[in-house]
Amino acid sequence: MSVLTFHLITIFPNFFDGPLSHGIVGQAQKKKKISIQIHDLRGFTQDRHKTVDDRPFGGGEGMILKPEPIFRAVEKIYGIGSGIDRKVILLSPQGRKFNQEIAFELSMCQRMTLICGRYEGVDERVREYLTDDEISIGDYVLSGGELAACVLLDAVTRLVPGVLNKDSSRLNESFTRRNLSGSENHQSYTILDHPHYTRPESFDGLKVPELLMSGDHKKIGLWRRKKGIEKTLKNRPDLLQYDRLSEADKRLLELKLEP
Ligand code: SAM
Repeated sequence: MSVLTFHLITIFPNFFDGPLSHGIVGQAQKKKKISIQIHDLRGFTQDRHKTVDDRPFGGGEGMILKPEPIFRAVEKIYGIGSGIDRKVILLSPQGRKFNQEIAFELSMCQRMTLICGRYEGVDERVREYLTDDEISIGDYVLSGGELAACVLLDAVTRLVPGVLNKDSSRLNESFTRRNLSGSENHQSYTILDHPHYTRPESFDGLKVPELLMSGDHKKIGLWRRKKGIEKTLKNRPDLLQYDRLSEADKRLLELKLEP
C-alpha cells in the first residue's frame, strides 16, 4: 500500500500542529494514506544564531530566506541528485494558480516537498535550481507559505484514493468535470456543486425542495445538474458561459422540475 508523503520545509514547525491534525487530513494520517514530515529550516543552518534570512542584494525592504539551508533540507529529503519521484514545490504568489486539476495531478505523487517562504520570499536560486514547480493559492499575498501549504495539502489529501469514506464523493464536487444527470445528452462541464439540504424538512418555515424527498432519482439528478449550472453561470462566468452549453443543457435550464 503506497503512502503519499508530504515534506514541509518551514521556519515555523509548530504552525502545523492544529491544522493538520483534524478532520480528513488527521484521519488520512491515522489510516496511513498520507504521512507528513515537518523540517525545521533552522535545523539546516550552520551558524551559532541559526540564521535563515538576510538582507537583499541591491537594497530594498524586508529580508530574504537564504538559499543554503533550503538546499541542505531538500538534499536531506532526497539525497544528492534528482530521483524520478522528486517533486519540490515552492509556495509563492508568483506561481501557477492552484486548482482542482493540479490537486488531482499531485494526488498521484508518492512524495512531494513544499517549501514555505517567509518575509520577502526566498533567494531566487531556490526557485531556479531547486524547485520543480511553483504554486500560488490565489491572487493575494500571504505573510508566509505555511497557510498555502495547508491549503494544498488538504485539497490533495482528499483526492488520494481511500481517504474519503466514499471514493465517489471526490468525483462529484465543485470543479470536477462530471455529468450528474446520467443522460448521454448532457456534456460534462466544469461546474460548481449543487445545493445540499439535510433534516429538518422545514426550519422556521424554510422548506427543503419537495423534489429531493420524492425518491425520483432521475429527476433529482437533473435538478442537481440544473442548479450546478445556474450557480456556475452566475458566480463563475470564467468557468462557463451560456453559449457553451449543449442544447440539452439549455433545455434543462428552461425545465420546471419543482412542483
Ligand atoms: N515578495 C513576494 C511577492 O511580492 O511576490 C511576497 C512574499 S510573501 C510576503 C512571503 C511568502 O508567503 C512567500 O515566499 C510564499 O511562500 C508565501 N505566499 C504568499 N502569498 C502566497 C500565495 N498567494 N500562494 C502561495 N504562497 C504564498
